[in-house]
Amino acid sequence: MGDRLRVVVWNEFQHEQESDCVRAVYPNGIHNAIAEGLRELDEGLDVGTATLQEPEHGLSVERLAETDVLLWWGHKAHEQVSDALVDAVQRRALEGMGLIVLHSGHYSKIFKRLMGTSCSLTWREAGERERLWVCNPGHPIAAGIETFIELENEEMYGEPFGVPTPDEQVFISWFEGGEVFRSGNCYTRGNGKIFYFRPGHESYPTYYDTSIKRVLANAVRWAAPQGRWVDSCPNVTESRERIGD
Ligand code: ZN
Repeated sequence: MGDRLRVVVWNEFQHEQESDCVRAVYPNGIHNAIAEGLRELDEGLDVGTATLQEPEHGLSVERLAETDVLLWWGHKAHEQVSDALVDAVQRRALEGMGLIVLHSGHYSKIFKRLMGTSCSLTWREAGERERLWVCNPGHPIAAGIETFIELENEEMYGEPFGVPTPDEQVFISWFEGGEVFRSGNCYTRGNGKIFYFRPGHESYPTYYDTSIKRVLANAVRWAAPQGRWVDSCPNVTESRERIGD
């Protein structure tokens, strides 16, 4: 433990329990596949998991307070996530907790809350090739990635993507069917760093891809808290200097 970065991978964990096809790809759930990839690439990470089905969705206020970076995978159960948890995650993000929102998490309550926009997009599930071009080669999230990442089968997400203009654009995806998409987007909200990363449809083995694992490990380090900014709004009745002299 010590000063290892505390990471939690959250997953709604529905498709894997309901679909034989998805379970065949991720027998222990997407969250465990992601967690294992992070542990494999960075021994300095203390990686745990949480799922929707656990009490308080696995993310009590106490656990969130001890989390440095949270990864979020959700799709069909966004509405089952309690508003109280969304409030708590938003609060921690503003304080400085890193948040990495994955794939269909674009429509999660927490991502929409933090973006303040529709977060809508176009999509097609046809198992087509995706090429994620590095458009910011000096960025720490792209470290170790050469030119592009190619995934043989993925779901397509296309523009227009209803998000605020990213502070930093790390990847742009091209799809076999012709669409493009802003697929690696950096934001800050309050004191917190947020990274949206597009690939990761549940029926494809995307999270076992070496380059995808590398990007997620890089993103966790990039999103690590830089201090903590606790929300308060004090009335500073005593001035530092004398007023009105
Ligand atoms: Zn999907």
